[in-house]
Amino acid sequence: MSRYCRQFMLKPESYNKLKASYSMLFKTAADVFEQISNTSKRTEITKALADLFAQADSDLKSLVYFVQGKLAPDYEGIESGLSDKSIIKVFSSISGRSEQDITGLFHKVGDLGVVAEEIMTEKLQKSLLSTQLTVGDLHAKLLEIAESSGSGSNRNKTGLLESILLDASPNESKYICRILTGKLRLGASDITILNALSQAFSYEDSDEVENAYNFHPDIGFIAELLKSKDIRKIKEIGPEPGIPIKVMLAERLPDIAQIMEKMGDEVAFEYKYDGIRSQIHKMGEKVIIYSRGTENQTEQFPDIVKAVKETFRGRNCILDGEAVPVNPETGEIYPFQAVSQRRGRKYNLDATIQEIPLVVFLFDILYLDGRSMVKLPYMERRKTLEELFEENQGIKRATQLVSGDQNKLALFFEQAIQDGCEGIVAKNVTEKSVYRAGARGWLWIKMKRDYKSELADTLDLVVVGAFAGHGRRKGAYGALLMASYNSDMDRFETVCKLGTGFNDDVLFGLPKMLLPFTSKEKPNSVESKIKADFWFNPSLVMEISGAEITLSPVHTCAMGLFRPDSGIAIRFPRFTGRFRQDKNAFDCTSTTEIIEMYQSQAKKTAPS
Ligand code: AMP
Repeated sequence: MSRYCRQFMLKPESYNKLKASYSMLFKTAADVFEQISNTSKRTEITKALADLFAQADSDLKSLVYFVQGKLAPDYEGIESGLSDKSIIKVFSSISGRSEQDITGLFHKVGDLGVVAEEIMTEKLQKSLLSTQLTVGDLHAKLLEIAESSGSGSNRNKTGLLESILLDASPNESKYICRILTGKLRLGASDITILNALSQAFSYEDSDEVENAYNFHPDIGFIAELLKSKDIRKIKEIGPEPGIPIKVMLAERLPDIAQIMEKMGDEVAFEYKYDGIRSQIHKMGEKVIIYSRGTENQTEQFPDIVKAVKETFRGRNCILDGEAVPVNPETGEIYPFQAVSQRRGRKYNLDATIQEIPLVVFLFDILYLDGRSMVKLPYMERRKTLEELFEENQGIKRATQLVSGDQNKLALFFEQAIQDGCEGIVAKNVTEKSVYRAGARGWLWIKMKRDYKSELADTLDLVVVGAFAGHGRRKGAYGALLMASYNSDMDRFETVCKLGTGFNDDVLFGLPKMLLPFTSKEKPNSVESKIKADFWFNPSLVMEISGAEITLSPVHTCAMGLFRPDSGIAIRFPRFTGRFRQDKNAFDCTSTTEIIEMYQSQAKKTAPS
C-alpha cells in the first residue's frame, strides 16, 4: 500500500475512487499563488485563500498542504528527497540545455521555481500539454516521489518529476518545484491559512481554531474538521498520543519580586535545564519523542526511549521535559556545548551515548491513560508526575520548590545556577494554571543568568573530601570536594565539587595520592555542610578553571556574607591538569580572593 493510502487511512480501492473525484485543477491553485505573491496585504491574502479553499472538494487536504509549501504535516517527516542537482538534471533532460547552463541560471536567480518556469516556457513553444494536472493527482505523485527509497530511487524520483513537469504549464512548474524543495514562500503563515479556512467555512471563533491546531498541528486535519462543520470536535480537541502538541512557552522577567507580583503570594520555581525540549509520547510499547518544533526526533535518542519504557511500563501518556547531557559518573550536568554533540546525530550513536548520556527532566504531563490532563491546574499535574513513576538513570523530575519566601526562592535560583542550569522557570500555582499549547504567556515565567564569560583566572584549591565513583569510575572517585582557605577564621571552606577534567591516569591515581592524607572523620579545620564519603586533611592543591562564581546554599565559602544561609561557589569547575605541589594547603586561593572575584564579576553581570 502506498504511503498516500496509509497516511489518509484509505483502502487502495477508495483511494482510486477518491482520486477520480478530485477535481480542482492545480492551475487554479497556481494562479491564486501567483496573485498572492504579488501582494503583502494580509486581508487580501486571507480572502484569496478563503475563496480558493471554498472551491475545494475532496482535495482540500492536499490543497492546504500545498499552501503551506509541504506535502504533509512536519511531524510526518515527509520530504521529496530530491537535491537541487537532481532537479536540474530533470530540467536538462526536458529542455536539452546543458546542466552547466541551467546551474548558471539557478545561481543567477537563486530560485529553482523561476528556473523551472523559464525552462518550461521554452518547452511549451515546442509542444502542447497533453493532460491537465489536478491538485489531488499532483499530491499523490509528489508523495510517490517522497516515498521512493532504496537503490535506484533517485532515478525513479527524477523520472516521476519529469513526467509531472511534462504535464505542467510554466506557472504550475514554478510552484511544483517550490513545493518540492520546501521553498514556496507565499507569505501566508499558518495563522493566516487557519483564518482563511475559518472564513471559507464560516467558523467565527478563530481562537478556537488556533487552539485546535496547537493540539493537532496538521493543517489538513483542521481543514477537514472545519469543512465538515464538526464544531464539537473543534471545541473539544485535546492531546492524542502520537500527535505532537505545540509546546507551552514562558514569558521573561528579570527578578523574583516582579515574578511574585505577576503570579501571587506563592509560586513554584523549577530548574531551567538548558538542553533539548522533549515531548514524549508513549503508546504501549511504542515511544515517540517530538522536538520543540513538533519534529519526530526519536531515532536520535534510543537511550531516552529505553529509559521511558523501563519506568512507564504499561502506560499511555504524553510527557513534557528537557533532555540534558549529564556526566555518567558524577551526575553533574554538562555545559550546554555538550548538547550539540547529541543533537541531530544519527551515526556512531552508541559511542556518543556512552560518552554523553542524556537525562530527561520531566516537568509536565499532558495525557494519561485515556485522560487529557491539560485543563487541570499545574499543581495537580505535578502531583501526578510525582506519583506516576520511579526515577531511573535517564528519566527524572525537574527539581522544584514551591514557596512564597523570596529569600528561599533566591537561594533556589542560585543553586540552580550552581547545578549547571540556566536559571529557573517560575510556574503559576493557582487553579487557572492550565497547560496552554503553543502559547507564550504569564503562567510560566523564566528568569535566567547569562554567564557567557569564563572566569579570567584559575584557582588553586585544596582537596578536603571525595565521593565514591560509580560506573566507569568504580574504585576511583566520582568527584572531589574542594576548599579555599579563610585566614581570618583559620579554616578551609568548601567551594565546589570537582568531577571534570581528569584523564584516566589522574582519575585512578588520585586514591593513592590522597591516601596519606586520609582522615576518619571530617577534620576540624574543614567547614562543610556537605557530607563527603571520604575526608582528607587539607594538603593536596589542584589548579581548576571555572565558568563563574555563584551564590550557593550548600557551600561554606563566605557563608552569610552576601545573603543569609548562602555561601559562594565555583560553577562548572574543571581540573586544568596541574597539581600545585609547589603549594601547601595554606597557600591555596583564599576565601578573600574568591570574594573579590565574585564582587568584580557581579559588577559585570546582572540577571537578564
Ligand atoms: P527559552 O528557550 O529561553 O524561551 O526558554 C524556554 C525553554 O526552557 C522551554 O522551551 C524548555 O525547552 C526549557 N525548559 C527547561 N526547563 C524547563 C522547565 N522546568 N519548565 C519549562 N521549560 C523548561
